[in-house]
Parts: sequence; structure tokens; C-alpha cells
Amino acid sequence: MKSQQHYTRSFSCEFFPAKTEAGADNLRNASLALKKEMNPSYFSVTYGAGGSDQDKTFSTVDMIKQASGINVAPHLTCIGSKKNEISKILEDYKAKGINRIVALRGDIPKGMDNPGELNYANELISFIRETTGEHFTIEVAAYPEFHPQASNATDDLKNFRQKVMAGANSAITQYFYNADAYFRFIDDCEKMAIDIPVIPGIMPITNYTSLARFSAMCGAEIPLWLSKRLLAFGDDTDAIKDYGTEIVTDMCQRLLDAGAPGLHFYTLNQSEASLRIWKNLTL
Ligand code: FAD
Repeated sequence: MKSQQHYTRSFSCEFFPAKTEAGADNLRNASLALKKEMNPSYFSVTYGAGGSDQDKTFSTVDMIKQASGINVAPHLTCIGSKKNEISKILEDYKAKGINRIVALRGDIPKGMDNPGELNYANELISFIRETTGEHFTIEVAAYPEFHPQASNATDDLKNFRQKVMAGANSAITQYFYNADAYFRFIDDCEKMAIDIPVIPGIMPITNYTSLARFSAMCGAEIPLWLSKRLLAFGDDTDAIKDYGTEIVTDMCQRLLDAGAPGLHFYTLNQSEASLRIWKNLTL
């Protein structure tokens, strides 16, 4: 963990584009509450995740930036896209004063026969650097429990290194509930001379059923002891939230105390759960 300790800490929060007017109001309010209490380094907005409308990322970035005055980093995926489409998006973001991007491959949609011109995130990063130079600070995804489609853990680490070599400035991890997976991942990065900040992605626990479903899809493990305890609360959502806050706060504190260079909260467009953790931390 030595290599992570010299970076300035970054605290950030992720949103997804809302589908309705009411959802957009809720998102605006969440961004304002998070700004007031946490004053994050930046907000990020997902792109195309879970079938969301890709144009909505652009308008959501604009809305949050104007409402909060905080820097906003759009996510950008390359799977299924042509280079000229990506170029146009990058130019639009530049014109809007956006200077940070979360660059991803994206999940391959079922039945996709044409992956587009950029197959992996490292190719997207190279393309961003070729076409826009150093304009964007580029965040990439990292997987302490490894990406579910990786042929093996070593290859996944090598593929992560390729993204860093292509020009990534910083990484955000998939969420996890096992701090040791993160510590081991950082140790492996050190051995491979990967030297960028790797910010733990933090998923607050508010609802066991949806968390379990999503975790199975994205390859994040809910440890057995944790899932059994959460299941034991049944429909008692307050108890799940209280216990989840305690467990995730403890993990965040452990990560920060060991030198993690910040935290990235997967807010699911709600401020309360992230702020409960935030207020418990000794920073
Ligand atoms: P890559 O880094 O390209 O890796 C994908 C897989 O391919 C890995 O198994 C890797 O080992 C392997 N690989 C990489 N390069 C090579 C190569 N050259 N040869 C062979 N194999 C290779 N999804 C969305 O749709 N929208 C979002 O907004 C979004 N935001 C996210 C934010 C974060 C912080 C994280 C962690 C994930 C996010 N995702 C999002 C999910 C992400 O798109 C998926 O996990 C996707 O399957 C992989 O994207 P990646 O950028 O990590 O891909």
C-alpha cells in the first residue's frame, strides 16, 4: 500500500441519468446535499449503464454542473461505437468545459455481433490521448476481485496495466466488501510498477435483494457472513441500513487508515446512505 499514500485524497460521487422529471429533481437535490456536506472533488455520471439513454448523460452532466458548481466527469464507453462518434462526444465535452472522463469498455450487450472500432478500454484511452492530447484527466475501472470476463487474475492485472500505459491518470474500483482484496490488488500493482491512484469504489448497503442481484451481475462478492446477517433482517430496511452503514463505514475507515487515496461513492442518486458513512469517518 506504500505507493498509494503519497497521493492527494480524492472523494467523489457517482450518479446515473434519471429517467423522469421527479428523478431529475431528486438527483439535483442529492448533488446539492452531497456538495454541502462532502464538497467532493468531482461528481461522475454513468453512460449507457443498465440500458439508460446515452444522450441523457450529456444533459445530466450539464444539469449537475450548473446546479452544484462541482466538476463533473462523464463516463464514456466504447463498445459498439465508431471512432467518429466518440470524437464528436469528446469535442462536445471539451466545448462544455469538461476536463475529466471515466473511460470504459462497457458491458457487451447480448447478441452484439459488431463490437465497433474500439474493443477494450485501453484502446479507448489511446484514442482519447491521440485525439485530445492531455485535455482530459482519464479515470479507468479497476477490479480488486477481478473482472468477471478476465481469463485469469494475472491477465486482468496486465490488462489494467495496459490502461495505465495508454494514459489513464487514476482508477476507480468496482465495489467490494473485503478490504483485503483491495490491499492485495494494490500490492500487485506495486509489483508491476503501476503507479496511479486507485480509489476504492464504495457501495452503501440499503437493500439486500437489489444489491445481491447487481453483485451477481458485475462479479462483486458479498461475503457469506455479510449476506447471512443482512438476510436475517428480512424486510426490516432500517436495520439493514443501520448494519450496512456500520460495516461499510468500518471498511472505509480501514481503507483510509491504510493509505487509500480517497473514496468514490456509488450513490444510486441518493445522498443519505453515502452521507451517513461520510459523517462517521474520521478524516
Ligand atoms: P476493460 O478494461 O476493457 O476490460 C474488460 C475485460 O477485458 C476484462 O476482463 C479485461 O481483463 C479484458 N481485457 C482488457 N483488455 C484486453 C485485451 N487487450 N485483450 C484481451 N482481454 C482484455 N458500464 C457502463 O456501461 N457504463 C458506465 O458508466 C459504467 N461505469 C463504470 C464505472 C466504474 C468505476 C466501474 C468499475 C465499472 C463501470 N461500468 C460501466 C461497467 C464496465 O463497463 C464493465 O465492467 C465492463 O464489462 C468492463 O469495462 P472496463 O472498462 O473495465 O473494460
